[in-house]
Amino acid sequence: MKDGILKAISADGRVRAVIATTTQAVEVARQKHGLSYTATAALGRAMTAGLLLARIVLRDGQVTLKFNGNGPLGRVFVDASPRGTVRGYVDNPQVELPLNSLGNFDVGTAIGKTGYLHVTVDHGFGRPSSSTVELASGEVGEDVNRYLVNSDQAGSIVVVGAHLAKSGVEAAGGLIVQLLPDHTEETICQIENNITTFGSFTFLMRRGMSLENILKRILSGFEIRTLTDEEPISFYCKCSSERFVEALKILSKSDLISMAEEDGQAEGRCHFCNEYYYVGKDRLLDLAGQRSI
Ligand SMILES: [Zn+2]
Repeated sequence: MKDGILKAISADGRVRAVIATTTQAVEVARQKHGLSYTATAALGRAMTAGLLLARIVLRDGQVTLKFNGNGPLGRVFVDASPRGTVRGYVDNPQVELPLNSLGNFDVGTAIGKTGYLHVTVDHGFGRPSSSTVELASGEVGEDVNRYLVNSDQAGSIVVVGAHLAKSGVEAAGGLIVQLLPDHTEETICQIENNITTFGSFTFLMRRGMSLENILKRILSGFEIRTLTDEEPISFYCKCSSERFVEALKILSKSDLISMAEEDGQAEGRCHFCNEYYYVGKDRLLDLAGQRSI
């Protein structure tokens, strides 16, 4: 199944949902960063949450999530756009932890139970807005839910998951269900029941179900209307050699010259996609020549 994202609403207007599969995007992140299983699960959940959030709060621009917990993974960074692009990294990609008592990847311990989730929403114009919430559990879904509740979004249910095999990511995805003002306590119970009855999100994915059918299962009992076609998702990083050269232009003339003479080149690595960029001696001297100081 190809990665995709879909928005839907119930006919009674009580719930709205955005649902995404992110298997290939998370696998690309795993390979680019050489992520451990635990780190793949953590970054995979965060990438999925970023994509879902971007689709909810934005028409254009990007959402940035930064999980800053006290766990061994260090910080987990993601940015995602409503056009379905996402990228991300963790500080310590090789950290591996034993499975937790439920037999799942211990994302909560890896990110940390104590710390903060910072969310920045950039509409692509005006000042970006930022907010910070304390981590609920470090498990990503609950933390993002806390952010949504805290930022006066409709109350919600956030499910994100990644299932891994030895060879890589087998299934990754999730959904955010938003409860609109007309919802009742029963609405929440019904959805939570559905999730318990039908198994985890990635379980449904591994049975080969389409995005729309997974949504119908999880929102079973509601008449669902899709609001968008299924749109593609991809791991995409906007770094480039041109941007690296631009970044070097903040250096002083003397720094550029000493870099050229002493190191023979400038080397840079993009945190988000692990791509390396090099600028040779001649180009550095050329840049230095364009500077007055
Ligand atoms: Zn990059």
